[in-house]
Amino acid sequence: MKVVLATSNKGKVREIIELLHDREVFPYTDLIEGFDIIEDGDTFKENALIKARAVYHALGDSEAIVIADDSGISIDALDGAPGIFSARFAGEGASDKDNLFKVVDLLKEKGLTTSPAHYTAAIAIVSKEGESCVHGWMYGEVLVEPRGENGFGYDPIFTPDGYEQTLGELESSVKRGLSHRSKGLNLAKILIDQIKFLRSK
Ligand code: IMP
Repeated sequence: MKVVLATSNKGKVREIIELLHDREVFPYTDLIEGFDIIEDGDTFKENALIKARAVYHALGDSEAIVIADDSGISIDALDGAPGIFSARFAGEGASDKDNLFKVVDLLKEKGLTTSPAHYTAAIAIVSKEGESCVHGWMYGEVLVEPRGENGFGYDPIFTPDGYEQTLGELESSVKRGLSHRSKGLNLAKILIDQIKFLRSK
């Protein structure tokens, strides 16, 4: 039974495959040509469902179980921005570094060196059994001085609650134990197991 990831974001694919390591999991671009998906929802949940549905229909394999992750960072001092616009905060096609430095510049313009922030991950699951969506969150602070090369996206400026180091500096195993994505995927695993159980009957 194929579990297909509706993403080609390398950072997400790496983390999701590590977290679901005991399962047969493929990024959808291993199976079909990649295509653009218009994420025009107003919430992480809507965008995760849009991505999972689009890939489920494009695969044309009714037995597939498709998982999509829509995620981002919300910064208190920026009234929750970038939120659902995290991947394109510095404009369409912006790199992770462009987006990170836009946050740094906006915080500096406000005369701030830190702000409380949190990551959200919405994990949508679409299969012939129906649609579901679960969430995970990770709370901490953003800083204006990026540190470390681990993780991806905004990780070099994010320190999780209880840590001095950024996610760029912490080992990936620490992020795995704490992250919004891990928490969401742990719930998603329960739903995937339920689908497998229903199909085995
Ligand atoms: P999406 O692909 O539309 O869900 O956008 C996700 C974006 O949110 C990524 O491109 C990153 O900028 C940011 N993001 C989500 N999760 C993480 C994470 O675990 N670390 C760092 N940045 C993240």
